[in-house]
Amino acid sequence: MKPSLIVHGGAWDISDEAVKACNDGCRNALAAGWSVLASGGSALEAVEASIIILEDDPVFDAGYGSHLNRDGQVECDAIIMDGTSLRAGAAAGLHRLKNPIRLARKILEECPHMMLIAEGAERFAKDSGLALCKPEELVSDAEWQAYLRCSKDEHAAAHHRGHEQGTVGAVALDPQGRLFAATSTGGTCCKLPGRVGDSPLIGCGCYADSQAGGVSCTGYGEAIMKIVMAKTAVDFLRRDSTVAENNLAAGQSAANDAVKLLAERGKGTGGLILLDSSGTPAFAFNTPRMAYGYVNPDGTFVTSV
Ligand code: ASP
Repeated sequence: MKPSLIVHGGAWDISDEAVKACNDGCRNALAAGWSVLASGGSALEAVEASIIILEDDPVFDAGYGSHLNRDGQVECDAIIMDGTSLRAGAAAGLHRLKNPIRLARKILEECPHMMLIAEGAERFAKDSGLALCKPEELVSDAEWQAYLRCSKDEHAAAHHRGHEQGTVGAVALDPQGRLFAATSTGGTCCKLPGRVGDSPLIGCGCYADSQAGGVSCTGYGEAIMKIVMAKTAVDFLRRDSTVAENNLAAGQSAANDAVKLLAERGKGTGGLILLDSSGTPAFAFNTPRMAYGYVNPDGTFVTSV
């Protein structure tokens, strides 16, 4: 089986000024994940490596540079799902993790539970050997300035424009056929403290089943949750792959149909990336833009915003 990798950096109204940084970020994430796969590493290591790059990049809404909640704090959520075992590791409401995806992996591999939140999640992180940072170390200057504008004007939506880059995600398949999907986010701008969106919820912001495919979502979390979008897309993939003549058609039609359902039944906007069970990439979004990238079969990278 050939390795495959797809990443995203969020689906929103990404500003013209941010397009280059989003493309560069996706390319760097592909480079990190692909070097893992090319040197024989696992799909789990590849999605983690890609997401760490995206979390560290302040242009994306994950890890450092995440959107701030109404208290002016970063509050992160993340998940990794294993398509072979159907086990996930997820964490929500994190204030002190520079790379929430590392904790998601620890939960996947070392915790009897599949999801931890807030203080308990951070305690588990510390006990598992992950370093905790100060909450303020996650706040970028650009987000702080945006927060000040928002909070002075009752969080009017207009102030969110220009920093609407989103959640990050990755899906990887390795030559052993292991399929992993991952999503990491700071959530929506000016969310209420304690709000958890779709991203860390199994089936909503992320899903992987090596018999069908893996998905990572982005967009308006409250709408994505209504249609359980990641699992819905995987179910469409399973349906389509039995009738389609080739996997490219199956993957793309599953992605398109999931986003169509998001608009029609969820009444929301967003997007998703996916790999089908043989690693063919597809994506769809109904927002003005989505940042994404994938690796061609010849090893060249494609990124777009
Ligand atoms: N889906 C994320 C959330 O609602 C936001 C995003 O994708 O940018 O928390």
